[in-house]
Amino acid sequence: MIFRYPSYCDKFRCTADKCSDNCCIGWEIDIDSGTLAYYQGISGTFGKRLKENIADGCFVLDENERCPFLNSRNLCDIFTELGEEHLCRICTDHPRYFEWFGDVKEGGAGLCCEEAARLILSNDFAIAEKTVPDEDCDECDEELFSFLVSARSAIISHLQTDSFTEAFCGMLDFAEELQYRIDNGEYSLPEFRQVTEPKTPDIQGIIRFLAELEPIDENWKPYAERCAAMADEVTGEVPEHKPYMRKLAIYFIFRYFLKGTFDGEILSRVKLAAVSAWAIGYFWRCGLHEKGALTFEDMAQTAKNFSKEVEYSEENLDTLADAFYDEEIFSTERLTALFKN
Ligand code: SF4
Repeated sequence: MIFRYPSYCDKFRCTADKCSDNCCIGWEIDIDSGTLAYYQGISGTFGKRLKENIADGCFVLDENERCPFLNSRNLCDIFTELGEEHLCRICTDHPRYFEWFGDVKEGGAGLCCEEAARLILSNDFAIAEKTVPDEDCDECDEELFSFLVSARSAIISHLQTDSFTEAFCGMLDFAEELQYRIDNGEYSLPEFRQVTEPKTPDIQGIIRFLAELEPIDENWKPYAERCAAMADEVTGEVPEHKPYMRKLAIYFIFRYFLKGTFDGEILSRVKLAAVSAWAIGYFWRCGLHEKGALTFEDMAQTAKNFSKEVEYSEENLDTLADAFYDEEIFSTERLTALFKN
């Protein structure tokens, strides 16, 4: 089968003990059934340690929410004792994500990892392709899939080439029209045009909405609320941030847009890309306002923190997908206005 992925993923290497926000801390880690059976068959001292630190198919995190096999040097004892091939599926894959569409597999490196965030922000986006062994996967609507592949290419190229305002506003209008056509069984691509009349955006409302999402990190809510209060002081995009915001939007479009193959829903996924890129840009401006300067590393950490909170909770993604239709603050008119300055 064909595997498509952003070409920068070839450069991804976990920084392990040098990572400042190790993914073996603070996350519940489910062990897949094959690996669980293997661990249950391990004997000796390490087998005893495995049995004592697994419950209900998950590693039992310690009082600091660390995986019990993450040692004091932030290296994995399972990796050392049993070998990389015996890590469970989630530890092998993370932060990589995958999706299957008939005989096409797609994947990438998730923004929730600081090293992936550095790659996403620092590389120009291009899709790489290679042939991989076939994997079992469900069939998909091939006509809709290939149509959405064309639509996604058009959006990504639009985000890469048009002026910042046109790139984002044109993308939102394109998505409105595209959703209408899909809903009516018409598989033709609209033009990129700015037709929506902007309405005053509710910046505080958006950031407060994000602050109220299910907290993944206890620091998220106070941080987002503090940033919401700065809305009057951090107006206007910082020109140097705009290329990075485009890259973030492309990351979200690449990762989520084709999921529409399974449910015909694309507008909320395009809004997710627009809102995420804008909100991370907003948080960067808040950092700049508070500290007087913002390094590339600060920007990568902010993007990673946003991703952990918003993207790595199914509940939060569902809440946002509903809000993109139901909440006036996320109407295309108000979102369009966010990109008009
Ligand atoms: S977050 Fe990324 S760099 Fe850090 S330990 Fe996990 S995979 Fe490695």
